[in-house]
Amino acid sequence: MKRDSQVFEIIEKERQRQMSGIELIASENFVSDEVMEAMGSVMTNKYAEGYPGKRYYGGCQFVDETEQLAIDRLKELFGAVWVNVQPHSGAQANMAVFLTLLKPGDKFMGLDLSHGGHLSHGSKVNSSGMLYSPIAYEVDEETGMVDYDKMEEIALIEKPKLLLAGASAYSRDWDYKRMRAIADKIGAFLMADIAHPAGLIAVGLLNDPLKYCHVVTSTTHKTLRGPRGGIIMMGEDFENPFGKTTMKGVVRKMSSLFDSGVFPGIQGGPLEHIIAAKAVAFGEALQKEYKDYMKQVKKNANIMANAFIDKGYHVISDGTDNHLMLIDLRTKFPEITGRKVENRLVLADITVNKNMVPFDNRSPFQASGLRIGTPAITTRGMKEDHMPVIVDFIDQIISDIDNDELIIKVKEQVNAMMSEFPMFAG
Ligand SMILES: *Cc1c(COP(=O)(O)O)cnc(C)c1O
Repeated sequence: MKRDSQVFEIIEKERQRQMSGIELIASENFVSDEVMEAMGSVMTNKYAEGYPGKRYYGGCQFVDETEQLAIDRLKELFGAVWVNVQPHSGAQANMAVFLTLLKPGDKFMGLDLSHGGHLSHGSKVNSSGMLYSPIAYEVDEETGMVDYDKMEEIALIEKPKLLLAGASAYSRDWDYKRMRAIADKIGAFLMADIAHPAGLIAVGLLNDPLKYCHVVTSTTHKTLRGPRGGIIMMGEDFENPFGKTTMKGVVRKMSSLFDSGVFPGIQGGPLEHIIAAKAVAFGEALQKEYKDYMKQVKKNANIMANAFIDKGYHVISDGTDNHLMLIDLRTKFPEITGRKVENRLVLADITVNKNMVPFDNRSPFQASGLRIGTPAITTRGMKEDHMPVIVDFIDQIISDIDNDELIIKVKEQVNAMMSEFPMFAG
């Protein structure tokens, strides 16, 4: 019996919820017991402002070791030349990069939020939109793919100081090479935010942004399957934005600027328990099993997207290259909002999130789309055969959206199915 039964009883309910449901939120995953153990460890007690070997506090010899391990493993995972593992979240990794490369009022250009971009890419309620001047590029209405020609046209007129690749609800790969050519034409920095597809990129299943971008940010808790957190990385290929003559000089200068952007720029003490857990997760991602897992995630997403298309749903861009898909409900069910579907599916223990679709005529609170991803269910062990079954559950509920008895029936089947995929030791 825990002393704070109030909190721990709630945690137990959340654990049951996670075990018994089908988790399809594209940004979620289930970490290993070892990642959780590191997160709940004594490392949380340590103040360590600064970086390994250069701290503002005594007693940092062991957190130095775990942070250095996290750094070394992450470099190996992405073939990066330099990394920072301290950002508390993906949004903070972006904030630190913007703080480093932009001055207040400077223009930067990212994917429109209603076309799949992220809050931290220039939303007017986020610091990125308050402090800087965001300009948006879009996806093509016909194809659902990023319109690079239009991006170039806008970039040449607006001349943003930074061009940003990456999204939260975009199911296709990115042409970083093309974006680098655009950035070079206007002397802009190229940045990629790979918060979502990072795991697929790490194992070589998607294009490598580190080859073309000056800087790359990510979260560690989505496809990477680590603790909640952020990272910043630099690859080998960058021009020389600071007028230094050697590559080494450029790396040193830029990396020390990014380090200062994180601390003291936007953060104080790093979360050393989370950094230890990042080290564990990066170690896991370097194993062959993780590559097999990522392949299965992609395979499952592809099969699931096709199963939705077979049932008459409009999947934006007609499919997926990665771990997620965006479904525009308006084709099959013009009257039903994403919000309604999200709420009804939750009652059957199926978790998805409503999402704006490109050129949506509804507000973000109603939304006409659903974003669905396969990282979490693939961690549970689900394979190709299970995908059509899940799509069928979802389609049954949407097709008879107000039927409460149906929901109870589906929920029973969902719970029975998920009991075949145990998780969490102890
Ligand atoms: C999830 C996400 C983030 C933010 O991550 P948080 O850890 O929630 O701050 C940033 N960028 C993109 C593209 C994302 O999808």
